[in-house]
Amino acid sequence: MSAGEGLEQIADGVWAFLRPPGSWGQTNTGLIVDRGAASMVVDTVWDTGWAKRVASATTLLVTDAPITEVLNTHSDGDHWWGNDTVPAEARITTSVASFEAMKEELPPAAVTAFARLGRLAGPVLGPIGDVGTYMNTVRGGARFPRKLPRLPDHTFEVTERIDVGARQVQLRYLGPAHTAGDLIAHVPDAGVVFAGDLLFIGSTPILWHGPLTNWMDALDHLIALDAAVYVPGHGPICGLDEVRKLRAYWAWVDAAGRQHFDAGVESVHAARNMMASPEFVPFAKWCSPERLVLSMSTLYRLWDGKPAAPPTLVRRVAAFAAAGAMLRRGK
Ligand SMILES: [Zn+2]
Repeated sequence: MSAGEGLEQIADGVWAFLRPPGSWGQTNTGLIVDRGAASMVVDTVWDTGWAKRVASATTLLVTDAPITEVLNTHSDGDHWWGNDTVPAEARITTSVASFEAMKEELPPAAVTAFARLGRLAGPVLGPIGDVGTYMNTVRGGARFPRKLPRLPDHTFEVTERIDVGARQVQLRYLGPAHTAGDLIAHVPDAGVVFAGDLLFIGSTPILWHGPLTNWMDALDHLIALDAAVYVPGHGPICGLDEVRKLRAYWAWVDAAGRQHFDAGVESVHAARNMMASPEFVPFAKWCSPERLVLSMSTLYRLWDGKPAAPPTLVRRVAAFAAAGAMLRRGK
């Protein structure tokens, strides 16, 4: 176990199962319990071994409060591919936009095949080796489920209230931003917000979908909630200061990235320049800093006038190749 890893109680009847430092696939999950009544699970992880650890660590907490509700904060596999590990009788909820994106996702078997290819191609020089290296990093040794897991059976458009026993959980769709369907879960009686991947803390965020202004608006919404504790999708739990710092990162990427775009600098080169600039220093210690390359590839599309859209496989592969090249050759 690394420092800060595992189950942490963050309020009365509210827990997070944390997986620092919050790099690829190191996803946090949550548990909201009304003792003697019912429980809600927030997000299910893609690594089947980790899902078992979460389940066994939380068994005692739910013996008199069965899991009746499950939430998937968005459509990335590391937040819902564990849906077959929750009780079959529990209802699974996500946003309409997230549900549509889940249906389009690559099945786990395809990603496993890609990562295997990555392990073989890793030693190869050039773009194929770059993609391979990066795919292997993304998988991070996780064991994926064999088939596409159970899809959610309840969706909502913008807001929804879910009762967990006598407790209320307020859901709000704030996407599209990181992905098409990003939603947050606010537990007002505990002062806790589960933010999914609208918050990466100590871990570099990735803009896959956009527009970026939506993400900054979502962060303003999180700040306005003025919660005591925020649980990010990746990284340690945090307060308002860290939410503001993430907003500052995106404001800098938006401004500095756009300057490079307007000057006709190609996106990987722009990302490298930006990471060498003094403005990057406050964010330089976040893990996976090379993810700036992935976000820049999305931003360049949007600045080119293309619509915000989920990343196609081709887009992801091209972005991974660029990030892999940067890691392997400092390029
Ligand atoms: Zn994630």
